[in-house]
Amino acid sequence: MNPGKQLLRQDMMPHILCPGCGHGIVLNTLVRVLAKRFTSMDQVALVAGIGCSSRIVGYIDANTLHTTHGRALSFATGLKLSRPELTVIVITGDGDGLGIGGNHLIHAARRNLDLTCILFNNETYGMTGGQLAPTTVLRAFTTTTPYGNKEKSFDAAELVKAAGATFVGRGQAYRPDLLEELIDRAIAHRGFSFLDVMTDCTEYFGRKNALGGGSDLLFSQARGEEAIAQGLGEWPELRDPDGFPIRETVPMGVLHEVNRPTLEEMMGLAGYDAREE
Ligand code: SF4
Repeated sequence: MNPGKQLLRQDMMPHILCPGCGHGIVLNTLVRVLAKRFTSMDQVALVAGIGCSSRIVGYIDANTLHTTHGRALSFATGLKLSRPELTVIVITGDGDGLGIGGNHLIHAARRNLDLTCILFNNETYGMTGGQLAPTTVLRAFTTTTPYGNKEKSFDAAELVKAAGATFVGRGQAYRPDLLEELIDRAIAHRGFSFLDVMTDCTEYFGRKNALGGGSDLLFSQARGEEAIAQGLGEWPELRDPDGFPIRETVPMGVLHEVNRPTLEEMMGLAGYDAREE
């Protein structure tokens, strides 16, 4: 049994996620890490914005804040500076954290605030209706790009690394074992840690691009990791309705890790050293 299951708020069930949505795998992986790392959830705060990904903090029995669209990092900054002994984890989506809240993200990374930001990247705005997100790949169909996306997408990991984050990684719902290790290392890191997590919206991104159901989309994630893709010979390459490959190869794992003083250290905040490692 997943040791994290005890951390789920049973009175919030059933959850709102659609069948096949990758967010459930990420939630499952996150609670497993939390159950292993912490003896009590009193020292953990989860802060989220708006969206299907942000909704998952309501399912976790810790200190949780469900805030406004794109502003999770602003609320988290205030919380962390007033309660520096807390382990603060921000849950956001690509629309919430990179689109509407993109400015907050780059400045939180620049400040090297000691918190962890997990960005659920499903290449679309899910909860609000499947619109184009800054991470939507070229040519993909969304509610707002009925003729295909003409804009280059952000590489979230590269953006946040360039902004000053001291730990950056990328994982996938397809590989919960690797994702578990990444989340654990990101939480342990002192400074701004950021994870770009590839997960899938079956209801909008999958359906609009005729990519099949949840398992088909998971296999398409596997094609994004070269080492795994080499072992997938018999599975058909997923293509959009015009025949273009829908996923590019992107690096996975820990992509960047350095040490520099955190904002809390620079400010000499009392209580910061009590943060659980
Ligand atoms: S709308 Fe998309 S992202 Fe939201 S729960 Fe459904 S499948 Fe998941």
